[in-house]
Amino acid sequence: MIQHPDGLLQFDSLAGDPAVAHGMLAPRVNVSFTAGEAYGDPSAGRARLLQKIGADPARTVIAGQVHGDRVAWVAARDAGAGALVRGTAIHETDGLATIEKNVGMLITGADCPPVLLYSQKPAMLSLVHSGWRGTAKGIVSKAAAELFERGARPADLKVCIGPGIGVCCYEVGGEVAEQVPRAFYKNAVREVPGARPHLDLGGWILQQLLEAGVDRARIEICDWCTACRTDLFFSHRAEKGRCGRFGLAAMLR
Ligand SMILES: [Zn+2]
Repeated sequence: MIQHPDGLLQFDSLAGDPAVAHGMLAPRVNVSFTAGEAYGDPSAGRARLLQKIGADPARTVIAGQVHGDRVAWVAARDAGAGALVRGTAIHETDGLATIEKNVGMLITGADCPPVLLYSQKPAMLSLVHSGWRGTAKGIVSKAAAELFERGARPADLKVCIGPGIGVCCYEVGGEVAEQVPRAFYKNAVREVPGARPHLDLGGWILQQLLEAGVDRARIEICDWCTACRTDLFFSHRAEKGRCGRFGLAAMLR
């Protein structure tokens, strides 16, 4: 990712694209009402992030995330849902998708990688919160399928997998590792002698995207581990649940 001097982080492969605005903020900018004020004023964090990407907070949509696999289509009438007033986010969804221009979308995380899917023509954008539960349910594949159903082509889809907990730090129980399909196992789980298996969430998401027909050359994976880089990000695992949530915001222009 590109780290701009003003704190904005952007995916290399999307930073120069005039048709889509996007970004994250570091270091440690809390954007979650749920995480609370203790880790930074979420309204101020949202306003700063959205202002940096040129999105209007009053027209930005927030997902009420529940570690599920629903992808909600965002229409013009949804503009503003959840952005300014607590409790008005789109309920129980971990994915947002839109064809609307100038409607911002925001996904939050603190180890679970945010994923951006973008079709230039026809113009479509999706943001997904893809922790292990959502990934096990195939949420990123579902988001891709939603875009394909509306005319996006697999070979043209661009996907950016944001910062999440890395395989270096993500020790998991057998009940989590066994959720990984056999065909993906060697790319998504690292066996560590003397320890429990380590999950490579980004690697698992990548396998799902390849299976969905997305071109590997059009998938960018951020290699920052949130648990290693608590100087930049929040990490639920590294901070034992006592942390804020960072955000990935994006918008079609
Ligand atoms: Zn790590």
